Amino acid sequence: MKILVINSGSSSLKYKLFDMTRARVICSGLAERIGDKGACLAHTLNPGTESEKKIRMTRALESHTQAIEMVARLLMEGDNPLVSSPEDLTAIGHRVAQGGETFKENCIVDDVVIRGIRENIVLAPLHNPANLAGIQAAIERFPSVPSVAVFDTQFSKDLPDYAFRYALPEAFYKTHKVRRYGFHGTSHRFVTRQLAGLMDKPLARLNNIVCHLGNGSSVTAVQGGICRETSMGMTPTAGLIMGTRCGDIDPSLPCYLAKSMNQSVEGVQNILDRESGFAGICGMGDMRDIHKAIATGDDRARLAFEMLCHGIKKYIGAYFAVLGRLDAIAFTAGIGENDAAVRAKSLEGLEPMGIVLDSRANAATRGKSGLISTKYSPVQVWVIPTNEELEIANACKALVAS
Ligand code: ADP
Repeated sequence: MKILVINSGSSSLKYKLFDMTRARVICSGLAERIGDKGACLAHTLNPGTESEKKIRMTRALESHTQAIEMVARLLMEGDNPLVSSPEDLTAIGHRVAQGGETFKENCIVDDVVIRGIRENIVLAPLHNPANLAGIQAAIERFPSVPSVAVFDTQFSKDLPDYAFRYALPEAFYKTHKVRRYGFHGTSHRFVTRQLAGLMDKPLARLNNIVCHLGNGSSVTAVQGGICRETSMGMTPTAGLIMGTRCGDIDPSLPCYLAKSMNQSVEGVQNILDRESGFAGICGMGDMRDIHKAIATGDDRARLAFEMLCHGIKKYIGAYFAVLGRLDAIAFTAGIGENDAAVRAKSLEGLEPMGIVLDSRANAATRGKSGLISTKYSPVQVWVIPTNEELEIANACKALVAS
C-alpha cells in the first residue's frame, strides 16, 4: 500500500511517499519558489537509510500543477518506477490548515469538500488557497486516486465551548465563525498516540500535555486522546512567542498600533506575524542562533529564550489544572526535540507539581524518543519526534479502508 502525502504552501510543495505495508518512506522532496524564477526541486530517495540518494533540479515551475507533474515523473518514470501506475497509489493525503466548523473530520475530497475548503479561506487566507492549489493539481494529475483532506484543526474539534468561544458578541461566532480553532493537530495527535505506546498505557486513560515547539509553537491539554485545550486560537498567531509571531498579546494592541503608529490593517498583521516573536525581541528567529548569541552575552537573545520558557511553564501550569490529573508531558518539533535548555528552563521549579526532570537524560536526548524525567517523577516527561506526514498517511489509510 503506497500513500503520497502532500503539504503545499503558497510557493512550495513538500511530499513524502510512504510504503504503508513496510512502514517506510520511499522518497521525499520539496519544490520551492514555485511561480518564481529560481524554482527548484530537491528529491531524496530512501531518506535516512544507507542507500539515500539526493537529486536536485532547477526548473521553471510556474504553478503547483507543474510541481505535481514533476513529482509524478519522479515517481513514475525510469526502469524501476517507484509507482508503477496511478492505481498503485492507494491515496494522496493533503494537509489542510483550516477546516473551520465545516470539517470536524478528515475526508475524501470531492466537489463539496473543495467548496468547503474554499469557504474557509476567509479564516486562513494564507494557507487554505495554497493547500487547495495542491489538492486541485493532484486531482488533475491523478484523477483515479482518492485525495484525502487532513485538517490541522481536526484534533481540536472537541474543545468545550467555554474553551473555544471568545468573549465577543455572539453574532461574531454565529455568523462569522470567530472562535478558537487550534492548529498543529496532526502533530499533537501523533505525539499523544506515541506517548500512550511508550508508556504502555491505554490512550483512553492517558492525560497529557504536548508542547509542539518549532518555528510555530503550540501547547495542548489532552484527556483520553481528546484535545481539551490548545494555545493557538482562531489563527496560528496566538499562544506562545514563536519565531516571528507574537503569540498572545493585549487584544487592544493591534488597534493601538493602527491608530498611534498609523499602520494599515495589513501592516499590523505583518508586524504580528513576521516581525515579532523571537525576531522582534532579539533580531533572530531561529533558536540555534539565539543560543549562540546567549553564549556571547547577548541580553536580548536571553530575553527571547526566557520569554519562551516562561510561556511554556504558564501553559503547563494552566493545563495541569484543566486536566486535574496529569500523567505525562511530551516535547516535540525542532525546539522541543532538540533543545535541552528550553526543556530544563520551562520545567524548572515544577517539582512540587510532581514534575521532576532527569537532567542527564534531558541533556542526552536529542531528535529521538526518550524519557527525560526521573523514576521518582509522578508526571513523566518525554521527548517524542513528531511525524506529521506519517499521521496524515495513517489518517488516509483509515479513511480509505472505511
Ligand atoms: P516548523 O514550525 O517550521 O516545522 P521546526 O519544527 O523545524 O519548525 O523547528 C524549527 C525550530 O527548531 C527553529 O527555531 C530551530 O532553531 C529549532 N531547532 C532545530 N534544531 C535545533 C537544535 N539542535 N537546537 C535548538 N533548536 C533547534
